[in-house]
Amino acid sequence: MLRVAREFAKHIYNSQKWKKLREYIFVKQHGCCARCGGVKNLQVHHKIWLTPNNINDMDIVYGEDNLELLCHDCHALEHLKKSPTREGLKFNEFGELEEEK
Ligand SMILES: [Zn+2]
Ligand SMILES: [Zn+2]
Repeated sequence: MLRVAREFAKHIYNSQKWKKLREYIFVKQHGCCARCGGVKNLQVHHKIWLTPNNINDMDIVYGEDNLELLCHDCHALEHLKKSPTREGLKFNEFGELEEEK
C-alpha cells in the first residue's frame, strides 16, 4: 500500500527551514489551493514526491518551484487520483498521506 510519509522525510518536516518555507509558500499563493482556490485544510505538496533517492536533493526538497499549496481534497487527489477515505488513507501531522492504522 501507498505510504507517502516515511521515516526518511521526517527530519525535513520537523526542520525550521521547512516550517519557514511552508509559510512562504502559503503567503506566495495567498493562502489558496492551487487547484480549486479553496482556503481550508491547506498543505504544501512536493510536485516531485520525496523519495529516499531524492531526499538529499535540495532543489526538490526545498525548491519553491517544486512546492505548491493544495487543500486536503486536492492533495489527496494528487496522490491517489481518488478519494482518500475510500482507500483508508489519512494525512499525518506533516500534511502527507499515510495509511490509516
Ligand atoms: Zn483544492
Ligand atoms: Zn503531497
